[in-house]
Amino acid sequence: MAILKVAHMGNPILRKCADAVAVEDIVGDRIQTLIDDMILTMREYDGAGLAAPQVHVSLRVVVFEVQNNPRYPNVESIPLTVAINPKVTPLSENTMGMWEGCLSVPGMRGYVERPSKVRFEALDRNGDPLHAILDGFAAVVVQHECDHLDGRLFLDRMRNMTQLAFLPEYQKYVLQNVADLDR
Ligand code: ZN
Repeated sequence: MAILKVAHMGNPILRKCADAVAVEDIVGDRIQTLIDDMILTMREYDGAGLAAPQVHVSLRVVVFEVQNNPRYPNVESIPLTVAINPKVTPLSENTMGMWEGCLSVPGMRGYVERPSKVRFEALDRNGDPLHAILDGFAAVVVQHECDHLDGRLFLDRMRNMTQLAFLPEYQKYVLQNVADLDR
């Protein structure tokens, strides 16, 4: 297993529409190794998720997991999920907003609003169908990761660029405000 190098914004691979994985290739060594390496890489860099184009592979594979993640404290846990050829369908007119980060846009957070509830369909690493209705943070993570497969970054989803911040300023001004409001 190997920790892979993460492509940063500006790298054209992040802007390409990734290719679907042929079902018969899923259980083959190339895809299985890619999945193992993506999980290792996501955990190494404390990502909530990782899409294959972020590790320079233009295929429709994403992984996500949240368990006591220091980059995202105070959010619900999400079990490790491997999703191949995923499809996300919004199920709600309602949106939820979150300050998102991305391993391909290091050191920044931006406020993005997305549908609050989605249907999520994919194949798992054995090629078996996955199906889930997701809301909350899990819905945000899945939409963020699947956007990578279509060459989209969270910045493209922002409506108000004044809500883009470097991480220390986000912690100082945004998180501090939230903490003040809670008091
Ligand atoms: Zn990302």
